[in-house]
Amino acid sequence: MKKQIEALTPEMLEKLARLVRYNSIKGEAKDDMPFGEETAKCLKEALQICEEMGFETKNVDNYCGYAQMGEGKDIIGIIAHLDIVPAGDDWSTDPFEMTIKGDTVYGRGVSDDKGAAIASLYAMKLIKDSGIKLNKRIRLLMGCNEETGSACMQYYNKHEEPITLGFTPDGEFPGIHGEKGGCSMLASSKNTRIIAMNGGFVSNAVCNRCTTVVPAKDVNIDKLKEALSKTALLEYSVNENNGEVTIDARGVAAHASTPLLGVNAAGCTMQALADCGFEDDFVKFYNSHIGTKCNGEGINLNISDDYGVLTFNNGIVKTENGKITCTIDIRVPVTFTEKDVRERTAGHLEDENGKIEILHVGNPLFYPVDSPLVSKLYNAYVQVTGDTVNKPSVIGGGTYAKYIPNSIAFGCEFPGNESHIHDADERLKITDLQKQVEIYVQAIRNLLAD
Ligand SMILES: [Zn+2]
Repeated sequence: MKKQIEALTPEMLEKLARLVRYNSIKGEAKDDMPFGEETAKCLKEALQICEEMGFETKNVDNYCGYAQMGEGKDIIGIIAHLDIVPAGDDWSTDPFEMTIKGDTVYGRGVSDDKGAAIASLYAMKLIKDSGIKLNKRIRLLMGCNEETGSACMQYYNKHEEPITLGFTPDGEFPGIHGEKGGCSMLASSKNTRIIAMNGGFVSNAVCNRCTTVVPAKDVNIDKLKEALSKTALLEYSVNENNGEVTIDARGVAAHASTPLLGVNAAGCTMQALADCGFEDDFVKFYNSHIGTKCNGEGINLNISDDYGVLTFNNGIVKTENGKITCTIDIRVPVTFTEKDVRERTAGHLEDENGKIEILHVGNPLFYPVDSPLVSKLYNAYVQVTGDTVNKPSVIGGGTYAKYIPNSIAFGCEFPGNESHIHDADERLKITDLQKQVEIYVQAIRNLLAD
C-alpha cells in the first residue's frame, strides 16, 4: 500500500495544485452560484478530477457535489469542503500557486480542506483498484460553504439521499468524538454614561481592539491610566479632547472556542473603568454578567463535564443611538442540552442595568469513544500509525459532522502538527498526505465491515 501511494503522489499533488488555484472564498451569489463564481469553478474542477479518475459525479446546484462508487442501500460519506477563508497577507509564496519546498507544499487550502478532499479521493481510488466487492456506496461529498455557515450541507440534506454514516476529514486525528454546542447571545445597555464603545471584528473571536469614549467630567484620568496599567492589555492610550476622554485599548485576538488564549480589549476597558471609580450602570452590568473570566459564571452558566468547560466570549462591541450591544459566543460542554442552558440562565440575564438576550442555542455533537463509529475510525488510525498515545478528543468548534448523521471529524491534521490553517503560509507535509490516504483507506474498510 505504501509503495502504491508513493507512486501516486506526483499526480495527487498535481491535482491538489489544480484546486488551490481557485480563490474559493465565499463570493456574492450570482445566477445558479449561491456562493459566488470561484467556489462554483473550484467545484467544477474537483468534479472534473473525479470524472477523470472514473467516478460517477453529481453537481448539487453548486452548493456541493459528489463522486461516488459502489452499490447498495447504505452510503458511507466522506465530507470535505472546497471553500477557503481569505488568504490574507504575509505569505512567503503565492497562496494560489501551490509551491513545493522540500517535503512540504504551501498554498491556501492545501490542508484545510482541499488536501483532505484529494487524500479522500485517492483512498477511494485505492479501494476501487483493489477490486474488493462493495456492498455499500462510498460517496465523497464536497461542500462549498463550510467556512461561512455550512448552508451547503443543509441544502444537501434537503435535496439528496442521506448519508448513512461517515466522517469529515476536516479536524484532527485520531478523531473528534464531540463538538460543543454553539450558543449566541446579545447583551445590551439600558442606561450608560459611556458616549461610545466600539471594538472587535467578528463574533467568534476575542475582541482584540476597542475604542471607548466617556465624558471627561466623570473620570479621573490618572486613576484611569493606573487602572488600565493593571489589566492584561498589550497597549492602551488615553486622550482628552473637547470634554471627552477616549481610551484606545489593544488586547489579543483568539478563537471564541479558546477565549482564554486572548485578551479581551473591551473586557479590560470595562474592568479599568470600574476600578478607577467611573460609576456607570452598564459598566456594572458588563463586569457582573460578562467580565473577563470567559466561564459564564455571570449568568449562572459556569458548567463543565468530563470533556471540557464552557467557554464564553465577547466578540464585538458596538454603540448605536446611545445603546451599547455586545455579542456573546458560548461553547457549551457536550453533555449539556439547550434545555440546560435555558433553565440555568433563567433569571440571570437581566437587571435594572442591562439585559442579555438568547439568540440561538445549538445542540452539541457527542458519540461515546466506544461507539462503533468512533472506534472503527480510531482503530484505522492506530492500525496505520501505531500511535495509541493520542485519543479521540472533544472540541469547541463545529464541523460538518453536526449536519451529517452518524459522522465525526476524523483527520486530516496529525497531533502536534502546525499546518497554519486559516493563516499565512498554510502547509502540508507530503509524507502526511501519504499517511492520510493510508488511514482513509483503512477507515473506509473498517466502515464497510459490519
Ligand atoms: Zn476546514
